[in-house]
Amino acid sequence: MASAPSGFTAVDKPEYSDYSRCVHCGLCLNHCPTYRLWQNEADSPRGRIRQMQLVDEGRLELGEAFVAHIDRCLDCRACETACPSGVEYGKLVEAARAQIEQQFRRPLVSRLARDFVYRQLLPYPRRIAAAARILRAYQRSGLAALARGTGMLKLLGMAGRERLMPQIDSNFFLSELGKTFPAKGERRARVALFAGCIAQVTFSRLNRATIRVLQANGCEVVVPAQQACCGALPAHAGVRDVARELARKNLAAISPNDFDAIVTNAAGCGSTLKEYGHLMHADAAHDQAARFAGKIRDVNEFLADLGLVAPMRAVPLRVTYQDSCHLAHGQKIREAPRRLIRSVPGVELVEMQLADQCCGSAGVYNVTETKASMDLLALKMVCVRDTRAQAIVTANPGCILQLRAGVAIHRTGQEVLHVVELLDRAL
Ligand code: SF4
Ligand code: SF4
Repeated sequence: MASAPSGFTAVDKPEYSDYSRCVHCGLCLNHCPTYRLWQNEADSPRGRIRQMQLVDEGRLELGEAFVAHIDRCLDCRACETACPSGVEYGKLVEAARAQIEQQFRRPLVSRLARDFVYRQLLPYPRRIAAAARILRAYQRSGLAALARGTGMLKLLGMAGRERLMPQIDSNFFLSELGKTFPAKGERRARVALFAGCIAQVTFSRLNRATIRVLQANGCEVVVPAQQACCGALPAHAGVRDVARELARKNLAAISPNDFDAIVTNAAGCGSTLKEYGHLMHADAAHDQAARFAGKIRDVNEFLADLGLVAPMRAVPLRVTYQDSCHLAHGQKIREAPRRLIRSVPGVELVEMQLADQCCGSAGVYNVTETKASMDLLALKMVCVRDTRAQAIVTANPGCILQLRAGVAIHRTGQEVLHVVELLDRAL
């Protein structure tokens, strides 16, 4: 048998012990956003699992058709929540993508784009900052307005994607790396803040709000200097050698024994960080990775468990909550964010229909599968509109960007906030 490429392990493919748990009952089908869109079995969880099995048995070619159906999956894991057999679909689809990464040659443009994003950009904070400065100059120089106004973006087929582009911050969060922020009042916990990679140039205000809310509730917050990207985007794309390398950097940068918790405000990052034990299962650092993963807490989960003690003033606002897939389905956390939202005086929480169905963000899905992503977003905005909420509250930076684009495209008028930004407003 050929050995796995460097950084991959021999088991980076869907395994019999995992896919054989599927009993083909079909109970997951109507929970799957891509099946609901296209009504095609091959784009359903059951259909994808079957294709993984056939590829593993050598009865289906690992070719374009298989890759297309696996690429079109959001990795939202709604099927995992629905499955009565305990199929860990997220594990399966990420293994299938790792298998594709090793064995399938994508078209040149796709290879170049993937190589740039996953191998040349995300692992290097300085390169992210440099790219962000260029983008910021484009956004602020008037060039962006010119490109939009002259219809050039439409001509290039980039108009939709441009709306999804994050606004680059004036003051990057990178400047806070290595700092410690003291607890207000009596110290109740000492936590490390996991600051994200792209979030450090696009969600600096969210990270700072997270620190303020934690401090106000009695937490000393350390921002470890040497932390790296969590590896979620490469892991979801099957680029596991890079994800593992990033995990090793984070294991070296943050010692779990020094903290009560390692806190993240990004559901997508939290989900991957909590699964470091699985990612590193065949690595010498497995035990260390499992201990590290055991200390990871989403900020909603952490604050709801700790209990809010900071005095809050009223924020009169009618809000609706969008479950982030990697919080609700990946981490099984649904009640904690709702509890925090309800704890803000003056806030009225109105549930939307299908709150836990993916908004179409799904990492880079809105860039790679833009049409499907926009169709899902349109469905989401109908549900949002029905609530007559003034704000949409959610728990993941990627969802915030997607929902802001939804508000702009569908002119629904809501503000889009992270749960901790709502808490911060009440402080
Ligand atoms: S992860 Fe989401 S899109 Fe993919 S098969 Fe499951 S429910 Fe469908
Ligand atoms: S619900 Fe679970 S067991 Fe049933 S078809 Fe879907 S993945 Fe398979």
